[in-house]
Amino acid sequence: MSAAQKVLLVTGGSRGIGAAICRLGLEAGYRVAVNYASNKAAADALVAEIKDGGGEAVAVRGDVGKETDIVAMFGAVDRAFGRLDAFVNNAGIVDVKARVDEMDVARLERMMRINVVGSFLCAREAVKRMSTRHGGSGGAIVNISSAAATLGSPGEYVDYAASKGAIDTFTIGLAREVALEGIRVNAVRPGIIDTDIHASGGQPDRIERFRDLLPMKRAGTADEVAGAVLYLLSDAASYTTGAILNVSGGR
Ligand code: NAP
Repeated sequence: MSAAQKVLLVTGGSRGIGAAICRLGLEAGYRVAVNYASNKAAADALVAEIKDGGGEAVAVRGDVGKETDIVAMFGAVDRAFGRLDAFVNNAGIVDVKARVDEMDVARLERMMRINVVGSFLCAREAVKRMSTRHGGSGGAIVNISSAAATLGSPGEYVDYAASKGAIDTFTIGLAREVALEGIRVNAVRPGIIDTDIHASGGQPDRIERFRDLLPMKRAGTADEVAGAVLYLLSDAASYTTGAILNVSGGR
């Protein structure tokens, strides 16, 4: 592998949509940094798979809900690869189904800390490395939003939907802020995608329950989201910044 080979960091890259982005990143020629929060085995397995495929990868632990972890994670990528060209703010959580009048402050603060503040702090670290203003050579950032940002998720998790609405606004603002610094910033809004996140939120049957409401009558796959992310990271999207791409099967 050449040191000139571009480097991609994906938060929550060890499972679900993040893992699909890492795999497609390998195919696109990136060296890949796979972030995870606690499931080291899943991250190590993906890194081994990428290496078996002839790629270069590292697993980097770090909870995006903690600033010290975020700073350490970017430092680990610096030490492993010495550059950063592409960054995906993918790590995100849902909580159990609840109405707004049932939500306590601990739930709301955790949701916003991980999904919103974590994305800001990670982008801060990425911009410090990529921006020509800071001596970097440019790069691309993709934020993973959600169709929930436009639907609101009533009766299910309005807090999550609002956190993704914040990601949409963040994407537009940051894109314009760094447009002259060699960095493009875009977002992808997945619809219902077949990953473990639904079971993590206590709804393992969520895809089945929603299927008839989906225009295509099926959930999307993590690979279908990853394709859109890799496009936005690529030079093929060189005039695209501040865009929010729905990958939601028409929902
Ligand atoms: P997932 O299958 O639950 O995967 C979660 C990944 O994020 C794992 O790698 C996990 O690491 C990591 N993670 C969780 N909390 C973290 C934290 N605090 N810090 C760092 N990493 C953390 O999730 P997914 O469905 O792929 O979702 C990925 C993104 O897409 C999220 O932002 C989600 O909101 C968004 N999205 C998903 C859907 C969908 O239907 N699946 C729809 C719209 C948007 P560990 O394995 O160590 O826990």
